[in-house]
Amino acid sequence: MAKYETVIGLEIHLQLKTESKMFCHCSNDAENQAPNSLVCPICLGHPGTLPTVNKEAVKQALMMSLALNLKINKKSKFDRKNYFYPDLPKGYQISQFDEPLAQNGHLVIESSGQTWSIGIERLHLEEDAAKNIHRNGKTLVDFNRGGTPLAEIVTQPDFKSPAEAKEFLIQMRLIARYLGVSDADMEKGNMRCDANVSLRPAGDHDFYPKTEIKNLNSFKAVERALEFEEKRQAQLWDEGKAPTITETRGWDEGKGETVLQRSKEGFADYRYFPEPDLPPLIVSEKLLTLVNSAMPELPLAKKDRFVQEYGLESKDAWVLVYQRKWANYFEGVMSDLRAWLFKVDGISPDTDQATELWEKNKAKLSKTAFAWLTSELFGLIGNDFKIEDLKISAENMAELIKLVYQKKINSSAGQQILKEMFSGADDDPSRIAERMDLAQIDDDSTLEDIAVQVIMSNPKQVEEYKAGKEPIIKFLVGQFMKESKGKANPQKAEEILKKKLK
Ligand code: ADP
Ligand code: ZN
Ligand code: MG
Repeated sequence: MAKYETVIGLEIHLQLKTESKMFCHCSNDAENQAPNSLVCPICLGHPGTLPTVNKEAVKQALMMSLALNLKINKKSKFDRKNYFYPDLPKGYQISQFDEPLAQNGHLVIESSGQTWSIGIERLHLEEDAAKNIHRNGKTLVDFNRGGTPLAEIVTQPDFKSPAEAKEFLIQMRLIARYLGVSDADMEKGNMRCDANVSLRPAGDHDFYPKTEIKNLNSFKAVERALEFEEKRQAQLWDEGKAPTITETRGWDEGKGETVLQRSKEGFADYRYFPEPDLPPLIVSEKLLTLVNSAMPELPLAKKDRFVQEYGLESKDAWVLVYQRKWANYFEGVMSDLRAWLFKVDGISPDTDQATELWEKNKAKLSKTAFAWLTSELFGLIGNDFKIEDLKISAENMAELIKLVYQKKINSSAGQQILKEMFSGADDDPSRIAERMDLAQIDDDSTLEDIAVQVIMSNPKQVEEYKAGKEPIIKFLVGQFMKESKGKANPQKAEEILKKKLK
C-alpha cells in the first residue's frame, strides 16, 4: 500500500458564451477584434458609472448549476474583491463571496467502467479581469476581456488522483458544450483551472496545507503538474519536511515542474465587501422553470439511455455521446432500423411482440450500425469534417446497414457502396449495389458450381487439405472469393467447400 494519499480539489473558471459582458453592453466576442475596441466607461471602471447584471449570464450559470446538481440560492449577492493590478481598472473585481448563486452539489463521473461522485462546493458569477500582454520588456493591457462573464466552480477536495481530476475536467467541458454555455477550451483560456493538492499519510482523514497550481493550459498539463506535485510533496514528507503553509506554484510546461510563486494571502487580504451598486440577485420561480425547460439531456444520462435503449456497450455509447451530432445521427439510423425490423415481420410497433423482437435484435443491430458509423464512415472523413456536410441521410445509411445485416451484400461490397454514397454520386445503396453488380450470390447451385471449379483448379491444395492440413481451406476460400468476383459470403463459401471436399 502506498504511504500517502493524494487529496485534490479544483477551482474552475468557465467563460460564459453570452453576447455581452457581465455588467455592461459591450460585446463578449473578442475573437479577431482589435485590442481595446470592446470597451465602455462601465467595464473601464470610470467613476460614476453603474453596473447592471446580464440576465443571460445568470441563465447560463443556472444551467451549469443544475447540471452539477447544485442547490440554487433564491437570493445571492455580489461582492467586491479588492486588489491592485493594471488589468483591474476599478481596483476591485465584482464577484460573489459568502452568498454564491449555487452551492452543495455533486457530479457523477464514469471512466473505464468505474463510477464516483465528486462534491461541488459552489458556483458563483464574476467578471473577468483584462489581459496583460508582455512584449519587448513592456506590459500592455487589452481591456476587451475586462468585465466578461465567468462562472467559478469550486469542487470539494474529493479527487484521489491526477487522472480523476483530468477526467472530471473533460466531463465539465462536455457538459458546458452540451449546455451551450461555454466552449470550455483550456488551450484558448475559456476554461481555466487551478489545481489544489496535498498529501496525507494513508488512512489519515485530516487535511494538510495544500499547494495551489496555476498556469495550467491543457488537460494534460493539469495531470502532469499534479503528478509532479505528488512526487515533490512525497519527498518532503519522507524527509520530515511536510508543507506547513499553503503556497501557490506555477506550472512550467517546458521544464515539466512547478515553481514557487508565493505563499497565499488569506481572503482577508482581498477585503471583500458587499457591492453597493447592485441589488441582491433574486432567482424567481419563473426563471427557474424557464432554465429547467431549456436543459438538454446531459452526457451521462444520454450514455445510460443508449446502453438501455439500444443495447450498446458502455464504451461505444460514450464514443457517440462525446460527439453529440453523431449521437443524433445514430439515433436517426436506429429509429429507421427499428421500424424496418417490425415491417419485415409484419408486426405493429406498439405491441408486446414488437418489444420482444426489438429486445432480441437491438444489440446486434446497434453494434452493426455503430461499426458502420465509427469504423467505416469515420474512416472516410477527415478530422475537420463537419457532419453538416455529410451527403448520406440517416435513412440511406440505415438502408446500407440493412443490406449488410441481411447478408445481401458482404462487407467489402458495403465499403464500396459507402464510398460511392459518401462522394455524393448516388445516395441509394440498393441501386448502387445493382449498378456495380455487388449483390451477394446466394443461389446455392451457382455457389456449388464455383466450389467445383475451385477444387478442380487447385488439385495440390485439395490433396494437402485431405491429408489433414486444414488451414489450407483459407486459401481455397480466397480462390472462391476471387472466382465469385468478391460476391460470395466467405463463411458460406467455406461451408460449401468443406461439404464438397468430404
Ligand atoms: P482557500 O482558502 O485557499 O480558497 P478553499 O478551502 O476555499 O481554500 O479551497 C479551495 C480549493 O482547494 C477547493 O477546490 C478545495 O477542494 C481545495 N482544497 C482545500 N483544502 C485542500 C487540501 N488540504 N488539499 C487539497 N485540496 C484542498
Ligand atoms: Zn463595457
Ligand atoms: Mg476559497
